[in-house]
Amino acid sequence: MTKFSDLNLNPKVLKAIDEAGYESPTPIQAGAIPPALQGRDVLGIAQTGTGKTASFTLPMITLLARGRARARMPRSLVLCPTRELAAQVAENFDTYAQHVKLTKALLIGGVSFKEQEALIDKGVDVLIATPGRLLDHFERGKLILSDVKVMVVDEADRMLDMGFIPDIERIFGLTPFTRQTLFFSATMAPEIERITNTFLSNPERIEVARQATASETIEQGVVMFKASRKDREGSEKRRVLRALIDQEGEACTNAIIFCNRKVDVDICAKSLKKYGYNAAAIHGDLDQSQRMKTLDAFRNGELRILVASDVAARGLDVPSVSHVFNFDVPGHAEDYVHRIGRTGRAGREGKAFTIVVPRDEKNFEDVETLIQKEIPRVENPAKPSAPRKSSRSAKPEVVEKAEAPKPAEKPVQDKYESKDRGSKPTRSRSRSRGGSDRHHKDNNVVGLGDHLPEFIALSFEERRAS
Ligand code: AMP
Repeated sequence: MTKFSDLNLNPKVLKAIDEAGYESPTPIQAGAIPPALQGRDVLGIAQTGTGKTASFTLPMITLLARGRARARMPRSLVLCPTRELAAQVAENFDTYAQHVKLTKALLIGGVSFKEQEALIDKGVDVLIATPGRLLDHFERGKLILSDVKVMVVDEADRMLDMGFIPDIERIFGLTPFTRQTLFFSATMAPEIERITNTFLSNPERIEVARQATASETIEQGVVMFKASRKDREGSEKRRVLRALIDQEGEACTNAIIFCNRKVDVDICAKSLKKYGYNAAAIHGDLDQSQRMKTLDAFRNGELRILVASDVAARGLDVPSVSHVFNFDVPGHAEDYVHRIGRTGRAGREGKAFTIVVPRDEKNFEDVETLIQKEIPRVENPAKPSAPRKSSRSAKPEVVEKAEAPKPAEKPVQDKYESKDRGSKPTRSRSRSRGGSDRHHKDNNVVGLGDHLPEFIALSFEERRAS
């Protein structure tokens, strides 16, 4: 097995790695560091969680340790798709470069231009930036990119999703032709292939196993769920989510919940808070200081549950997330891999649960095709037969306004789930849940007084049949 000491890294960098507690390089590090140190271009196909940040930061620091920065002319450039990822790369850089005298500037939105300009004016070795903010600085005439020796593009596929490719092409054009390029992407979409063919020169290509294999330590599960009524889907899904969290009890030390839409991120976080969970939202519409505050709280353990959108969670480095919950199935199968990769990092164990409604079935099939594995179906823990309260049972039951029991609200139906696991959705099952007279008496219907017309308490099938 390769050792860090075999890789020709600067001894001061080796010291920092040792202090970080890393024992041996990950495959992307073992593959990318040697060619990077030889000055070659690198094309790394790797995802977050594989140790890819260090695979470019460590050789960069080693290369930059010789030489000095000149005013307004950074010697290296790292481009990241999001502010969070850029901030995280900067943190990694600080860790690994702590024994080497190098200067850096972080150019991201939400921070004043003045402060950033002052740093650039003094001269920086490493500039870590999001593409838009970097170009803003360039256009203000405060930045000269003609001395860039090493340029890193991190998470290029995410840049593509976010529409940054024209900016990236422009930035490539502003840096010298002779620069060294270290380019990372989780997937190789045709557009990414085109960029690498255009701007990389005879790169060393290193592809590490997709996260599907890197994440053997992640236990996955899926709840196939169908709401009792379309307009109740949101609230019933949230009930399933709470039941999943409860079911995990104390094993769920901290979790990230992914929603596809920002609006659902907000609703989900608010709902969890109302139910007494320690949860907060993070998405692109929140201001930078708010996002940083939430992330810090999550990192240092003050916040247990982070509800996030894909973009906001990119590059979020929280080494010990115990659980990931997909409130929605992501639209791109690769995102599933990214999402669950937030847990089970660097060899640790983790659990990832996904809630699938019929509409998301196709996307879910794509996920299983991509990871070439059937994700185990798990029982819907919110089913009326299952105990509804576990670790939270001591807490007061809070009823959300939007989720207050509605007239004749019946328990969550699970026909979809039974169908998916091969057993027939029988009428007798739904009858036994909500149909019998005895059940009506046990299950007082809220909101219609005592004189409930008989037909209202029948299930849909029963009403049709009667
Ligand atoms: P990344 O893929 O860069 O987001 O890194 C994922 C996580 O792995 C981070 O928490 C790193 O601190 C950690 N890490 C990176 N390299 C190693 C290594 N060689 N050994 C152990 N952990 C590592």
